[in-house]
Amino acid sequence: MKHLTTALLGLTLATSCSFSQPNKPKTNQATQTTQTTPSTMSTNAPNPVYNREAKDKVNVSEAEWKKMLSPEVYYISRQKGTERPWTSKFEAFKEVGTYYCAACGNPLFKSDTKFESGCGWPSFYEPISKGSIIYTPDNTLGMKRTEVQCGRCKGHLGHVFDDGPPPTGLRYCINGVVLDFEKAQAAQDKYDAKKASQ
Ligand SMILES: [Zn+2]
Repeated sequence: MKHLTTALLGLTLATSCSFSQPNKPKTNQATQTTQTTPSTMSTNAPNPVYNREAKDKVNVSEAEWKKMLSPEVYYISRQKGTERPWTSKFEAFKEVGTYYCAACGNPLFKSDTKFESGCGWPSFYEPISKGSIIYTPDNTLGMKRTEVQCGRCKGHLGHVFDDGPPPTGLRYCINGVVLDFEKAQAAQDKYDAKKASQ
């Protein structure tokens, strides 16, 4: 049964995660699922390895990860799961700031590299730095894909495809569950000042 579920998830990913596919869910479905998506916006450290400044690699046993992470984050990050498309609050999210790995706090993407791919998952065209991501060939489910993992904790994030926009032409298709977001305070201040002067 587990195999079947995995295969079905993969199929969903394969058919829905396409840059050009205009498949949109029914609005009520998206609203419902957004509300049930667990909050990953908390700035509280959810576990001892969570650190947004640390550069050291995280080496933790699966048993320890299971204790530290929420079931949703554990499923994606450690078991290479895939969230259902259109369920992430970050999918159409436009705030200015930085996205971090929800498992370890590693900075992954800046909001200015985020774009609307129409694939149902938060999409970016470039990671923050070369070291923020690890690339691994993924030939499961009869497809040749490149898996992207967190450069610090090796947690599964999603996949990268070569149908993204300029300047990189890449599309990092990321599970929103494993992303933590922090608003850029400077950008917020600028926005507030501009608004006040109008
Ligand atoms: Zn990580």
